[in-house]
Amino acid sequence: MALQLNGSPEAFADALRGELGGRGWLIRDDERRGYRASSPRLEPLADFLSDDCRDVRGHEAVFLATGPVSGALFAAVIHRTCRGQAQGGLRHWPYEDVESFLRDGLRLSAGMSRKAALARLWWGGGKGLIARAPGPASRDPESRRALFQEYGAFVSSLRGCYVTAEDVGTSPLDMAEICRTTRFATCVPPEHGGAGNPSGMTARGVVCAMEAGLEAFGRGGLAGKRVVLQGTGQVGSALVELLLERGVERIVASEISAELRDALLGRLAGEPVEIHLTRPGDLSILAEPCDVLAPAALGGVLDPKTIPDLRTQLICGPANNPLGDDTRDAAALAARGIAYVPDFVANRMGIVSCANEQYGSLAGDPEVTRHLDPEWEGGIRRTTLRLFAEAAEEGITTVDAALRLADSLAQEPHPVWGHRAWQLIEALRNEGWAERR
Ligand code: NAD
Repeated sequence: MALQLNGSPEAFADALRGELGGRGWLIRDDERRGYRASSPRLEPLADFLSDDCRDVRGHEAVFLATGPVSGALFAAVIHRTCRGQAQGGLRHWPYEDVESFLRDGLRLSAGMSRKAALARLWWGGGKGLIARAPGPASRDPESRRALFQEYGAFVSSLRGCYVTAEDVGTSPLDMAEICRTTRFATCVPPEHGGAGNPSGMTARGVVCAMEAGLEAFGRGGLAGKRVVLQGTGQVGSALVELLLERGVERIVASEISAELRDALLGRLAGEPVEIHLTRPGDLSILAEPCDVLAPAALGGVLDPKTIPDLRTQLICGPANNPLGDDTRDAAALAARGIAYVPDFVANRMGIVSCANEQYGSLAGDPEVTRHLDPEWEGGIRRTTLRLFAEAAEEGITTVDAALRLADSLAQEPHPVWGHRAWQLIEALRNEGWAERR
């Protein structure tokens, strides 16, 4: 009864441990045109993946486990791995029920496949999840240390088909704990030999995408433009400084943290920047008149409630999934004549900057900087121009054009390793991963 989609992640984790020894999988079965589950008790989840998730199709596998001591529910959601191991951050978040836990992982891992493929990286798409328990334990440093070490051990048990990273709810300290128990982690802190915080690079990529978006419509460069920004956190604040260097006329931003706002304004005294302190639910910044609007806080802010009030020509920012619904809201923007650079084109530098860190680090790494090269076919500028051109020629949205290109690139097999991560998934299934303790 408790292994149900509408149950809480805590009840599900208890049942997974009590009835199935703490592990389970759902793996794509092309002959059945659906998913197989490691146990008949998980069939409802396999049916959910087969029938209810057609909007985010194509996942290869979902691995579920419980933390041996923490009892927390873990998942590694694996979308497509033709281009390489499934890579994507680990989200530590309180989920209401198992369905929202799974849906988040399915949606985000598909997004990672697309982002990696469009950036021509040799990664597949994945996502890690830990259902955050209610109560104070998730803030206690000792409990966190144990929790993230357990998650690292879970990742190791998957033999490399999923490679984890930092995401919402996980910190560099948590990543350091994960690295104690697995080598399959990327975007790790520099003390562990990683590329470190990518926010500065992400901001550079967003500027490049903004310039390409303006160029596509013959609107010149950023100099003299008015830019509106929602959120001045890590990427937003770096973006403000880069935009000022480009000579924008004015930046109007919103931020919910007075501390962050004051610190940034303190650094930028005399510059044409205003930052309004706001409340989390207040989206009025989006309706400010501007040339470029950059969502740099949360996802899901552009929807039928906000789109009619927008007064911008171009939307381009770092926030993941800013559209409430990709198809509906991209069409609504196009109908209003507002150009939109898809988030996974504009914010790719976050993943690019650490994508090859296992091959060592170089200052000014050409593998990273070529994404900002205006002439490289796979770079941000040419990709953005191509998407706008295809959208205009074919009467489709830039989101449709980007998804089509990304989905086709995501089918390309890795030039050296082929579809090896799928072999790893099959090995886990055939060799009894779910039965091991
Ligand atoms: P962050 O948490 O440092 O910054 C977000 C900021 O938005 C915070 O300062 C927060 O106080 C503020 N905020 C939250 N709600 C707000 C609201 N309603 N109105 C105004 N401000 C609000 O995160 P970040 O690393 O700067 O990332 C920003 C966005 O870009 C996120 O969606 C993230 O997923 C995405 N992104 C970041 C990177 C990266 O390199 N950091 C890479 C790719 C995508």
